[in-house]
Amino acid sequence: MDPLSRRAFLKTTTLAGASTLTSVIFPNGITAQAMPQSSPVHKPIVVGSANSAMAFEKVMELLNQGKDALDAVIAGVNIVEDDPKDTSVGYGGLPNEEGVVELDAAVMHGPSYRAGAVAAIRNIKNPSKVARLVMERTDHVLLVGEGALKFAKAHGFQEENLLTDEAREIWLKWKENLSNQDNWLPPHSIDDTTIGETFDAYLQHYGTIHCSALDQNGNLSCVTTTSGRSFKIPGRVGDSPIIGAGLYCDNEVGSAGSTGRGEANLLNCSSVMIVEWMRQGKSPEEASMLACKRINERCCEARLKDEKGRFKQNVAFFALTKRGEYGSAAIWNDTYYMVHDGSSPKKLECAYLFKK
Ligand code: ASP
Repeated sequence: MDPLSRRAFLKTTTLAGASTLTSVIFPNGITAQAMPQSSPVHKPIVVGSANSAMAFEKVMELLNQGKDALDAVIAGVNIVEDDPKDTSVGYGGLPNEEGVVELDAAVMHGPSYRAGAVAAIRNIKNPSKVARLVMERTDHVLLVGEGALKFAKAHGFQEENLLTDEAREIWLKWKENLSNQDNWLPPHSIDDTTIGETFDAYLQHYGTIHCSALDQNGNLSCVTTTSGRSFKIPGRVGDSPIIGAGLYCDNEVGSAGSTGRGEANLLNCSSVMIVEWMRQGKSPEEASMLACKRINERCCEARLKDEKGRFKQNVAFFALTKRGEYGSAAIWNDTYYMVHDGSSPKKLECAYLFKK
C-alpha cells in the first residue's frame, strides 16, 4: 500500500469507532472485517468548583460505570440545581433585581465537538438539561429568555417557581438596604450606617457550578450552570453560558471552566484561552493563572480596582487535560476547588494571584 493509501486506511479505522472496530473500507472500495480492538480504559477524573462536592459522588459513580463524561457531569450538577440550599444555582438561586430567578447554563461535548446553552431562562430548574437539548435537538448553540423557555416546554419541562423563601428574604433585605432615598424600609434593627456594608456584601455574592470530566474512553466534556450575579438587571447574561468564556472543551487537549465575576471573563474569553495555553504545554494551573493575570492586567476601570491597583473581585478557573492532569487558579486566595480521581472527592485551595 502506498503511503497515501495507508493514511486513508488508518483514518478510516480511527473514524469508524474509538473503542471497537468491526469493518474498514479500503481505498479501492472493498469493505473488510477488522479485528475488534478495545481501547485502554482511562482513569476517570472530575474537576470543578467548590460547591460541586455534592455532585462528584454521582459523577464518579457514572464515570466508573463507563458512562460518557457529558452524561456524568450533567447528572451531577442536576443534584445541585435541585438543591434549594445552594443559592447560586438552579432552584433556590438568588434572583434578579426584580426578585425573579433567571438561570444560565452551557454544556460542551468533547468527542462530538458540539455545545449547547441557555441564558436568562426562567421557571426551569435544570437549565443544564435544556442546554444539552439545544445541542442535540437544534441547529443552534444558544437560546435565550422566552425562546429558551418555550423550547424547554416543547420538550416537556414543567414551569415552576424557583424562588425559595430563603432566596426571597435575602433579595428583600438587599432591596430594603439598597438606598435610604426610596420607599423600602429595612427592619428597625438595621441602622442607616450599615447600609453600605450590607449592600456590598450582597452585591459580592457570586456562585456557579462548573464540572469538567474525563471518562473511561479518554473523552472530555464539561458543564457550567448558575443563577448568575445576584440582583442583576433582568436579562443580564454572564460568562457561564458563553462557549469559550464560562467553559470550553477540546477533546484533543483539555477542558476548562470558571466561576466568579462573569463580566471580567466575558471580556477575556478565559476558558478557551486556558485550553489553548494547555495545548501550548502549560499545566492546568499555569494556564488558569495566566487567565487570572490577563483579567487583572486588562482591567482599566478604577471602580473595579483596589487601592493597590489590583482587580477587586474574584474569578476562579478549573482545568483538566486529556492526560488527566488538573489544576485551578483564582484571583484571590481562600478560593477552593474540588477534584475526584477515583478514591474520594478532595477539596483543594486554588493557586492565587493575590492574598487578601
Ligand atoms: N460567573 C457567574 C456569572 O457571572 C457568577 C458566578 O460564578 O458567581 O454569571
